[in-house]
Amino acid sequence: MNDISSLTLPELQAQMLAQGEKKFVASQIYQWLHKSHVASFDEMTNISKVLREKLKKNYDICTCAIEKKLVSVYDETVKYLYRLHDGELIESVVMHYKYGHTICVSSQVGCKMGCTFCASGFAGFVRNLLPGEILAQIYTAERDLGITISHIVMMGVGEPLDNFEHVLRFLQLVSDENGKHLSMRNISLSTCGVVPGIYRLLQEHLQLTLSVSLHAPNDEIRQKTMPVAKRYSIDELLKACRDYTEQTHRRISFEYAMIAGVNDSDENALELSRRLRGMLCHVNLIPVNAVKERDYVKSSAARMQAFIAILEKHHINVTVRRTLGSDINASCGQLRRGETH
Ligand code: SAH
Repeated sequence: MNDISSLTLPELQAQMLAQGEKKFVASQIYQWLHKSHVASFDEMTNISKVLREKLKKNYDICTCAIEKKLVSVYDETVKYLYRLHDGELIESVVMHYKYGHTICVSSQVGCKMGCTFCASGFAGFVRNLLPGEILAQIYTAERDLGITISHIVMMGVGEPLDNFEHVLRFLQLVSDENGKHLSMRNISLSTCGVVPGIYRLLQEHLQLTLSVSLHAPNDEIRQKTMPVAKRYSIDELLKACRDYTEQTHRRISFEYAMIAGVNDSDENALELSRRLRGMLCHVNLIPVNAVKERDYVKSSAARMQAFIAILEKHHINVTVRRTLGSDINASCGQLRRGETH
């Protein structure tokens, strides 16, 4: 697959010039791809027929075919099951907030990370997504729903920092002023804690929000639920997070799925408060979502309140994430590479 939608405008210009075409043709093609979101060369009506045929021979356009679409009766959250060019399946979710439409995109087909509470990795890992395939999730949803998406969360299937190059290129393309031109400030990228990836990201000095899936206050608990914790200790991870906030001045968001009897005691809250003391951060508590292969139970409302009270007493910013799309298995940790309904 030689995906034309993964190319930046300067790259496309260079390739067109090298093929004996005029430079402005690259801008026209780029507009069709990134402003009009066409899915075929035939739709590029201001490009000559001859050139369209040549493009068809030399390039492909990443597309997401809508295999299935589910709409939540509670909150109109939409979950798409998309089929990629090679038949692989991924999921994306569109959520409607007062401030705009947000899409949760996948970065890989499957996931290698193996977090025990997350359905995304249960069927294993297949491959990385191309930059154009991450974009296509957005463009397809926008076209299908007739909306403009204003916010992106990289919190779907996959570990974005395990597909670093493609994710970075996706970020460049989606924020490009000649394309969708979405502000980096409206993008969140979530990682399970791939420490070298955090340092690589730091060097890019992007204005996006980094979310870190922490889910435990210490190595002992974290290693039981998140295999990545055996590779990078919580000390190493939190050091990387501190370095990140100090150099980017961007607040980190820590995700913490509350699992009854696993990570939700007063002692756990105290330890978490101690660890995060003084850091430019925010804790997002998520009552753990059900996945059918596991019997994790979410913490009770009273337990959550007690946990929150301890964090607040220690001056840690904390919020509880609202659960959307629960009737269509579209919540955190419920996305998969296959179909489950
Ligand atoms: N691999 C990245 C991106 C996935 S984001 C990461 O781990 O951050 C998906 C978020 O949902 C992560 O914070 C993940 O830890 C969380 N999650 C996974 N399973 C969950 C579940 N069953 N309940 C609540 N949150 C869950």
